Amino acid sequence: MIKFLDLHKINARFEGDFSLKFKAFLDKGHYIKGREVETFESRFAAFCGTKYCIGVANGLDALTLIFKAYLDLGILHKDDEVIIPANTYIASVLAVINAGLRPIFVEPDEATFNLSPLEIENHITSKTKAILVVHLYGQLANMVAINNLAKQHNLLVVEDAAQAHGAVLASEEKKAGNLSNAAGFSFYPSKNLGALGDAGAITTNDDKLAQCIRLLHNYGSSKKYSNEKIGVNSRLDELQAAFLNIKLDHLDADNVNRRVVAKRYLNDIKNPKISLPFYDFSENHVFHLFVIRVENPKKFERYLQTNEIGSLIHYPIAPHQQKALEDYKTLSLPITESIHNTVISIPMSPVMTSKEVTTVINVLNRY
Ligand SMILES: *Cc1c(COP(=O)(O)O)cnc(C)c1O
Repeated sequence: MIKFLDLHKINARFEGDFSLKFKAFLDKGHYIKGREVETFESRFAAFCGTKYCIGVANGLDALTLIFKAYLDLGILHKDDEVIIPANTYIASVLAVINAGLRPIFVEPDEATFNLSPLEIENHITSKTKAILVVHLYGQLANMVAINNLAKQHNLLVVEDAAQAHGAVLASEEKKAGNLSNAAGFSFYPSKNLGALGDAGAITTNDDKLAQCIRLLHNYGSSKKYSNEKIGVNSRLDELQAAFLNIKLDHLDADNVNRRVVAKRYLNDIKNPKISLPFYDFSENHVFHLFVIRVENPKKFERYLQTNEIGSLIHYPIAPHQQKALEDYKTLSLPITESIHNTVISIPMSPVMTSKEVTTVINVLNRY
């Protein structure tokens, strides 16, 4: 059986280092906001090239806190419109709604699955105040065009970088997390940089925003038992930070391995029934997922199962068609709906063997 994602194999590589860190953690007895969190924040900021990184509890909180901080600073206001891609994981939408803002669903560019600058422009109104860009499946959105548009219309740009740790925009010599006003990262175990539980972070170069988030994420407090704002408890866990400090050293090499797998798939899968994803062969894609399109994903999924290959669908239901988002169900988003009805993700990870990749290719070519 070739697993869709072998998380055990990914983390088993670090078993010795994890054990040493855990022993030190236990010996020290400092569980919240310790040296590991501090170290990770400064190292992840350096990795992304940003001035600040603030560790939080998960990716959804990271995005929500960015918007809540902009509201607190008086830069955004309740019910302001935020443009988001209609085809995303529901967390992007929930962050906007939970902060008291209005999501405006925009169709993506069908080739890249990412926001189309032209479509964004068509949806800008006098109430639009921000764009939440999602680097979906690990591929950077067209940030040069989107940032230009935002500048023209005086809009904030926020990145949902939960799937794009380490993706590089060569023309700007910048990485995901440093291509907008602020970015939210998730270190959910299956992400390219994954913890052994929930974890997340915010990156930004904005002094005021960073300062505000620092307060908001920790009970609105900078000094114990002194509370300056109505905050939340969303801290990066000390033990998860310790694990992330070990794994951060391997992120770039893991992303290279993912690209090696992707290049083989793109070269060797030759089947007219399968549409392969667009890739410009640069470092702007870290292949969090390798998403193909077929006419009947359910049937294809069964075929893969019969051949002992795991797969997953990202995502089977578009956010505006979820029960939770009933208010938006009358929207007509044909490109998004057709994407959700035809996508399926095949095995992709930094620890797949060359033989496993060959098996996947052969099975797909026989479909
Ligand atoms: C994983 C993910 C999130 C949310 O991260 P959590 O840590 O699970 O809260 C947000 N946006 C996208 C695109 C994601 O893939």
